[in-house]
Amino acid sequence: MSSDFVVHLGLSQLQLLKGDITGIAVDAIVNAANSQLAGGGGVDGAIHRAGGPEIMRELDEIRPRVGRCEPGKAVVTGAGRLPAKYVFHAVGPVYRDGGHGEPALLQSCYSECLKLAAERDVKTISFPSISTGVYGYPIDDAADIAVRTVAEWLRDHSGPVRVVKLVQFSDSDHQVYRRHAEKLRGLAADTTP
Ligand code: ADP
Repeated sequence: MSSDFVVHLGLSQLQLLKGDITGIAVDAIVNAANSQLAGGGGVDGAIHRAGGPEIMRELDEIRPRVGRCEPGKAVVTGAGRLPAKYVFHAVGPVYRDGGHGEPALLQSCYSECLKLAAERDVKTISFPSISTGVYGYPIDDAADIAVRTVAEWLRDHSGPVRVVKLVQFSDSDHQVYRRHAEKLRGLAADTTP
């Protein structure tokens, strides 16, 4: 799998990749989970299948302690057989019309996971396109939020997170993310002395 689009932001990188997130080695993989932390279809199912039953065993222990995981928040488990140390199970908002706090909740998924990453000395982290599958978030708006939130976070924090990989499953999603990241590249170039 190639890292086909990179934006350099200081010492850090924002990368866009197209493919299966479970095959990409990083320190932390973000899952698009549900509030019940119960597993499901889409990327959640793929992560549990590839990672094996250990991840669900850990969630079974977490669930009684936290109850449900609210949208915009995330919980941490190990990564089982995945090529990572951690899985951050982030719960994206279910999209209604955009006027029910969805943008702030989606933004929070990205920033909460980056915060969890920094607390654990995670240097590389991958995100799927949270909420844009079954949860129905329009891809154009979601890509804009994902790219901007990650870029702003990397600009505002000097470490430990060095590489953020945003992973799209389809060509068309990848093109949309690319369009938003191109804007960023322009900005990054403009600010270079
Ligand atoms: P949500 O419920 O948050 O919408 P989904 O899993 O339904 O989550 O979809 C989120 C995104 O993850 C969608 O764009 C979907 O195409 C993508 N996706 C599904 N499987 C994978 C995978 N194995 N790797 C990366 N992305 C995936």
